Amino acid sequence: MKRFLLLALLISAMTLTAQKDQRIYDIIDAVSAERIKNDVTKLANFGTRHTLSDTVSNTRGIGAARRWIKSEFEKTSAACKGCLNVFYQKDLVKKGANDRIVKDVKVVNVLAVQKGTKYPNRYIIMSGDIDSRVSDPTNYTDDSPGANDNASGMAGTLEAARVLSKYTFENSIIYMGLSGEEQGLFGGDGIAQYAKDKGWEIIGIFNNDMIGNIKGVDGTISNVDFRIFSEPVPPTETEKQRKARRFYGGEVDGVSRQLARYVHKNVKQYMPEMNPMMIYRLDRFGRGGHHRPFNDAGFPGIRIMEAHENYTQQHQDIRVEDGIAYGDVLEHVNFEYAAKLTAVNAINLASIAWAPPAPTTVKIGGIVEPAAKFQWSKVDGAKGYKIYWRDTTSPTWDYSRYVGDVSEFVLEGIVIDNYFFGVSAVGKDGFESPVVFPNGIFR
Ligand SMILES: [Zn+2]
Repeated sequence: MKRFLLLALLISAMTLTAQKDQRIYDIIDAVSAERIKNDVTKLANFGTRHTLSDTVSNTRGIGAARRWIKSEFEKTSAACKGCLNVFYQKDLVKKGANDRIVKDVKVVNVLAVQKGTKYPNRYIIMSGDIDSRVSDPTNYTDDSPGANDNASGMAGTLEAARVLSKYTFENSIIYMGLSGEEQGLFGGDGIAQYAKDKGWEIIGIFNNDMIGNIKGVDGTISNVDFRIFSEPVPPTETEKQRKARRFYGGEVDGVSRQLARYVHKNVKQYMPEMNPMMIYRLDRFGRGGHHRPFNDAGFPGIRIMEAHENYTQQHQDIRVEDGIAYGDVLEHVNFEYAAKLTAVNAINLASIAWAPPAPTTVKIGGIVEPAAKFQWSKVDGAKGYKIYWRDTTSPTWDYSRYVGDVSEFVLEGIVIDNYFFGVSAVGKDGFESPVVFPNGIFR
């Protein structure tokens, strides 16, 4: 009896370890709040990083800031025998492109690419913004430390590169510093176009914009809450796809939403102390961020950010008014929290970069039948596939079944009308692709 119990314990311990990967815990532990603090401080000390600011000085302005960011990526690369390809991507934006571009400007992004060993042309991206602003978006001379918006996201991206460059991945990872965000998302526009021109297969982008503030303007304080913004369906969908949704569903199941669910699930599994909040919208009400140009180009993209914003500390001239200290200064950044959100990014970059591609076609059947049926296209490198389903009102994939290395399956006893479904590919180490919502039907 005793021996039987031991065996049962051993087996359950084995299944537990099989579901989790120690490397993911190592990645979480390797993220350093201290290094993020140093980087945010360095970035804030460039005085201003406004997109139109000085590019000649080595101590002030966006030119100095981007050269420093590039040199940090190069340092990281030197420590991994040149595992990162570091370069600038630039576009000239002409005066008058909108009313925030008051002179011609080169919008310069900094990229560090860690090539995948098996799928080098598939990219998962983490981004932060380089640029900052004060109250007047065209004021490119006054002090604009942008400590939280968005030195925090930029520092997190530099740190994720340091941590993940110690590993090799099957898919490519890009760590990206983007410019021109505050002037109208110009950097993201430029790089999304660049990715299209190069034929890059973008798995998705994690846009990190403000990941360091834990005290909201309403007084709420939390160092575990954070938000994952994702749009419901891509803006690039066709009229035919839109019409099909009325009959087959998919109103809340676009590619960006699946990426958001992926991050949510992974965080719940590996960082249960955190509280990821799935927000069912592209971005904050009426406001924007650098994942949007990627969404516009048809790529999956989400925004990861703090849950409790403080508007007196964003886009403000540094001043005291009615006893309130305005300005996006260093003192308001919580570096431990920024490190946690950096870890959120890093574990999801790693999980996706270690996973096989998702099936490109997933067909569903089972109309007026007692079972739901699936067919999908197999992918190179998958050891098997997982069918997911959930109640139609649930935001998360609550039920799943691993079905092995097959390309079709019948889920007996599950009536198609009462759930939403999807399929993911599972790699040899258990890492999974994002879930694919069915994009076809069969009888
Ligand atoms: Zn901003």
